[in-house]
Amino acid sequence: MKAIAMARFRSLQSSLRTRFTLGLAAVLLPFLLAAAVGLFYLLPRLVDPLEDIVRVVIGEMNPVMHLQANLLTAAMPVNDYLINGESDESILFAQLSHQVDLAFKEAAPERFSLAQEHELIVSARREWQEARQIGEALLRLRDPIGDPQAAREMMRFDAHIYLSVDLLEQLHAISRRFIDADRASARVTRAHSILITFGAFTAALAISLLASATLARSVLTGVDALRQGAACLSADELSHRVILAQRGELAELATAFNAMAEKLEQNQKALYELATRDGLTGLYNQRTFYTLIEGELAHARRFERPVSLLLLDIDHFKHVNDTCGHQAGDAVLKGLSELLNHQARVIDRVCRYGGEEITVILPETDLDAAANIAERMRVAIEARLFDVETGTPIGITVSIGVASFPAQADNAEALVAAADAAMYSAKQSGRNRVIRYKPAAS
Ligand code: GH3
Ligand code: MG
Ligand code: MG
Repeated sequence: MKAIAMARFRSLQSSLRTRFTLGLAAVLLPFLLAAAVGLFYLLPRLVDPLEDIVRVVIGEMNPVMHLQANLLTAAMPVNDYLINGESDESILFAQLSHQVDLAFKEAAPERFSLAQEHELIVSARREWQEARQIGEALLRLRDPIGDPQAAREMMRFDAHIYLSVDLLEQLHAISRRFIDADRASARVTRAHSILITFGAFTAALAISLLASATLARSVLTGVDALRQGAACLSADELSHRVILAQRGELAELATAFNAMAEKLEQNQKALYELATRDGLTGLYNQRTFYTLIEGELAHARRFERPVSLLLLDIDHFKHVNDTCGHQAGDAVLKGLSELLNHQARVIDRVCRYGGEEITVILPETDLDAAANIAERMRVAIEARLFDVETGTPIGITVSIGVASFPAQADNAEALVAAADAAMYSAKQSGRNRVIRYKPAAS
């Protein structure tokens, strides 16, 4: 179990793609951390001071509200006195007035920052003082009940009280406006901060993703091309080359890889030539001849087409060697091979069967056509003088046997034997001629 897990971990490590993905995750992690710190730590600290200001303003307003309540309470004994005329109201008013004074002290003008607030609290105090004087005067009256003058003074008293309360209400309204503005500004700041943090994070994320993807792609494309190239080489596709549209180490690797593939291809070609061609004449060797004829026969069988074979032997070649030397004989063999290759069609195959015997495979050719080709070759050879390095050019003649598939033979060996028999007949009947194979009458 542990071994499997280790192997899986190792395969993860070895994959370039996984490495890049892990690298990208490592790059993105700081961004995520920065965004989290910004959103959950820095932003609240940025906005909290504004909330504190709001709390301070609300704190400032408490004495004002207290004062309003005190003013309204203080007005009660004076009103009651005008209704019931009880002397206790005077004592109560004195107590309540004292409390109002204390409340005004608590809400001293210096506590307010705006000139308008300052003015309002001063006016409210002035109104209270007016009301207090009127109230004290009313409470000094012996018989206030039903006194019209007292009733009028009472109305003035109340008007001053209400004006004072109203001025305090205006003060309150200003503070409320402040609180609302502060709250709105705090909300806007928070929204902006979130938006900026999120925007910056998204932009950073996009840039880093793009940069990482571009980097990964530039490396992985090259690596993939090299890997594919290596796979082609191992599958024997030696002509494959790695094309990289980039510079740097990977391009150098691709150049080295291509040079190696080129060398391998050349070596393979040379080996193939060595294995399939004859060293002296450059014609296909006997082994390749059999491979080729088997291939042609298979094709001809499948498509029911004819294939013919020429077997050509130089007449009295021993004599050439004996009189002009072996090297001259070699030169004649080379010259003859070139001539035959020249005479043959593109689809024909000229092979050195052995010694000075040459076979020519003629696909898609019946016996008559093959005999015509053979005759054309014989005439051309007879007409030719082959250059040798020393001595005068040498003229030769050849005897050619012709046989055809499927008319005269149904396999490679039988076809070779038939062509050989025909060539032997040509020798027997005087040489320098073309003879078609005729099966012996049984
Ligand atoms: P024939 O008309 O009956 O064919 O007479 P011939 O002299 O050609 O007789 P044969 O075909 O039996 O002899 C083949 C000769 O070809 C024998 C050998 O000296 C010569 N020979 C075979 N291979 C080579 C070669 O690679 N180079 C040279 N110079 N001579 C070769
Ligand atoms: Mg021979
Ligand atoms: Mg011969």
